[in-house]
Amino acid sequence: MIVKRLVILGVGLIGGSLALAVRKTGVCQQVVGWGRSPGTLQRALDLQVVDAIEPNLAAAVRGADMVVVAIPPGAMQGMFQELAKYLAPDAIVTDVGSTKGSVVAAARMAFTTELAHFVPGHPIAGKENSGVEAADADLFQRKRVILTPIPETNPEALRRVRALWECCGAEVSEMEVEHHDTVLAATSHLPHLLAFTLVDALAHMDDSWEIFRYAAGGFRDFTRIASSDPVMWRDICLANRTELLTVLGRYNEGLTQVAAAIAAGDGTRLQAVFDHARKAREHFLQLEVTVQAPKNTSNRCF
Ligand code: NAP
Repeated sequence: MIVKRLVILGVGLIGGSLALAVRKTGVCQQVVGWGRSPGTLQRALDLQVVDAIEPNLAAAVRGADMVVVAIPPGAMQGMFQELAKYLAPDAIVTDVGSTKGSVVAAARMAFTTELAHFVPGHPIAGKENSGVEAADADLFQRKRVILTPIPETNPEALRRVRALWECCGAEVSEMEVEHHDTVLAATSHLPHLLAFTLVDALAHMDDSWEIFRYAAGGFRDFTRIASSDPVMWRDICLANRTELLTVLGRYNEGLTQVAAAIAAGDGTRLQAVFDHARKAREHFLQLEVTVQAPKNTSNRCF
């Protein structure tokens, strides 16, 4: 047992799922939840997601050897600034934010010597449901977690954060901060933007009621993520705006081309796009299946 006191700031879907997963493995002596809302914290305790709750930030992080920041990316800067006042010098800080450039910039503004113990992270796992009620001990099983260490990151801090996620069944990889934001703009941020925008556009049409009434499985599949938290996704889109606008531009080009093919009745061109997309999707799904869970999911993984 290496982490004696693990503190989770923000016991929502991701923070709560991590707390449950860690408690299941038994690798931490105590998992403590901090949150801004007493109701959420109490719920986390009632649901036995955490061992203990502490609404006072200074008291929560006192004696912590690892702190996980699991609040929306837009709130991280203020949190880091508060956190810097109370952290023990050797406490490890990691986060789960969906964007990494903005989080690292926020950490650089708030932390000085603490940067050595800061390990930026992002679990590629989630659901459209938010809040502690949606927390799931198995959310990270066989899922990827990307860590984006910065030059200052201490290798031992990195190793321990990696070990924590591996204990939760995740496959951990490392990436440059900028590369993370480029990749995630394409694979996560753009799809969320498209889903929200499609549903919004249809909902503004005069016959929207009639349209949604006949919505079938395809529409539900495509738009599931439009049920995600709007505030969170507003923050994510703005935080990663440069990369998102680049990939949105590429997507717009694709749309313009398929619109032209449809207008011209060019079935060959249209089918070529669809064929290529289907093959690419099958290929990538196959890669996803081959993600292996770490062999060791016991508390020996530290
Ligand atoms: P969530 O279920 O809504 O939980 C967010 C938590 O943060 C709640 O406990 C909330 O407390 C707290 N919070 C919200 N705003 C805050 C603020 N201004 N100051 C302090 N605490 C605040 O969201 P989530 O899905 O777990 O997301 C948490 C983090 O995980 C985000 O950084 C997100 O980018 C990242 N992430 C999400 C997913 C996903 O699929 N959802 C996947 C990977 C990573 P209250 O109850 O008081 O509102």
